Amino acid sequence: MFIDSHAHMFDEKIDFEKIDLSLLDAIIVPSYSMENLDKVLNFCNKHKQCFCALGIHPFWCNNFDLNKYVNTVLSNKCNVYAVGEIGLDSLCEVDYLKQIEVFKKQLKIAEEFNLPISVHLRTKQDFNSFFSIIKNYKIQCAIHCFNGDLEDCQQAVDNGFYISFATNITYKGNKHLREIAVGVPFENLLIETDSPSMLPSCFKRKGINTSANIVYVAETLAKIKNCEVSFIAKKTFENANKLFNLKLKEK
Ligand SMILES: [Zn+2]
Repeated sequence: MFIDSHAHMFDEKIDFEKIDLSLLDAIIVPSYSMENLDKVLNFCNKHKQCFCALGIHPFWCNNFDLNKYVNTVLSNKCNVYAVGEIGLDSLCEVDYLKQIEVFKKQLKIAEEFNLPISVHLRTKQDFNSFFSIIKNYKIQCAIHCFNGDLEDCQQAVDNGFYISFATNITYKGNKHLREIAVGVPFENLLIETDSPSMLPSCFKRKGINTSANIVYVAETLAKIKNCEVSFIAKKTFENANKLFNLKLKEK
């Protein structure tokens, strides 16, 4: 059994009822814009495997509304398991200072409500900014769809953060990710699909990525870390369960 630590399963491209999710104990479903906060909450209320994360992604942070965001988190506190997807992306068009401002506001909420964060970082600049900002907060963190270098990974592990590998670890061109994954301690490991984007390589770009594909991430990690797929499932289950405080019992 698996936990998918980051998947936008509410996306309308996904026909949720038709997907076989019998291998999944839980899916963390993050919002990314002000417009889909309620949508994600409603979606997670409807599907018992889905656990809600609320956050505004850097791409959509220009219309961040702090009052509305705080009120939504506050009035649904029991059903919110993380602040995410939030982060920094120096390659997107949104002003970087604006991104930092919105990121910090959401970090403050995460700290206040004692919620972990699911964070998007793309470039070396993003990782450097992130590490210098995060040291001022007391927050647990999953670096979603990890795509940094060995040094970033080491720094994250030293901070006790979780490294979440996504389906892109199956891509031929991402040898550097597989090399980095070899050294990530099992205690810091998470897996995710980041659905609906990032279809595993074996699909040859045909179809839509869903949480059902989590098994390909686990298989890739098991191969490079020289262990059983069930061991990857067990460790990442324990880690996600602890980080997001899901209170799931192992079967
Ligand atoms: Zn995402």
